[in-house]
Amino acid sequence: MRVTTIHGPGDIRLEDRPTPTIDKPTDAVIKVVAGCICGSDLWPYRGENPITPGETIGHEMIGVVEEAGSEVRSFKPGDFVIVPFCHSDNTCPACANGMQSACVNGGLTTGGQGEYAKVTQAEGSMVKTDGMPDPSLFASLLTLSDVMATGWHAAVAANVRPGSTAVVVGDGAVGLCGVLAAKQLGAERVIAMSRHEPRQEIARQFGATDIIAERGREGIEKVKELTNGVGADAVLECVGTGEAMRTAFRVARAGSMVGFVGVPHGVELPVRHMFSANVGLAGGIAPVRKYLPELLDLVTSGTINPGIVFDSRLPLADVAEGYKAMDERRSIKVYLEP
Ligand SMILES: [Zn+2]
Repeated sequence: MRVTTIHGPGDIRLEDRPTPTIDKPTDAVIKVVAGCICGSDLWPYRGENPITPGETIGHEMIGVVEEAGSEVRSFKPGDFVIVPFCHSDNTCPACANGMQSACVNGGLTTGGQGEYAKVTQAEGSMVKTDGMPDPSLFASLLTLSDVMATGWHAAVAANVRPGSTAVVVGDGAVGLCGVLAAKQLGAERVIAMSRHEPRQEIARQFGATDIIAERGREGIEKVKELTNGVGADAVLECVGTGEAMRTAFRVARAGSMVGFVGVPHGVELPVRHMFSANVGLAGGIAPVRKYLPELLDLVTSGTINPGIVFDSRLPLADVAEGYKAMDERRSIKVYLEP
């Protein structure tokens, strides 16, 4: 089968590898219907995360069950499934506490930008749709394997409440999904921080009431102006850089929470400010499986349409171009069809 591999910074290749097989009774092999490139894939692409040359890359996918191990009882070949990027048994203490991303038997999807992928702990990880969904839903269903669930986690961690004011730092696919999540969780005002016109447009479609194009000190001042000098009730940090985290804490009102889901790179926490203003930090790697049933209902009922974050569709053969487009910010998120 063909699958995407990374050999070094900027070096993405589509290569032939053996099709995954069932090694444990908890495994399933999935034929990928669609995969995509994640903002977090750009860290290794830019050489900012260590890699093993030749390793497969791609953790977001939807697909059809090809083969299921003997302990994967709720699924059979032909089932259409959403595969959380982090696998979980859904029974261990971490899972029982709603933190499936910290499952003691956890694993990660590694072949999502390929033709087939293996899911470990398939029974506890995957969620199936009611029959084969209409292809018009594929893009939105694909976001549920990571970015929509991650944006949702940011909003939950930031404690977005009905009637509140939320600020979203970051206009990547996760940040945009965070706007949608904050709106869906009842925020009355959602302030999106974005400099890029196409991203601002999606943020508005997702429910942003205000857009702030400025960054750093100026951006912080703008949020203060919009909130009568008080700051936001909830802040979603969806980037993972030191600057994004600093901004998040500076726009959070006293006694509020910052929900963070950007993979931290060079982040230092302003502990003294957190102490003096009683601003907390929650979040981390999203427990996708926890939110998946609820988000699936929202998508299939047509309540939310997160799939519009995909502004580019490419055949899998052009995956390297997809990385380049996202790296250069010519594309928000690339949908890949095997
Ligand atoms: Zn578990």
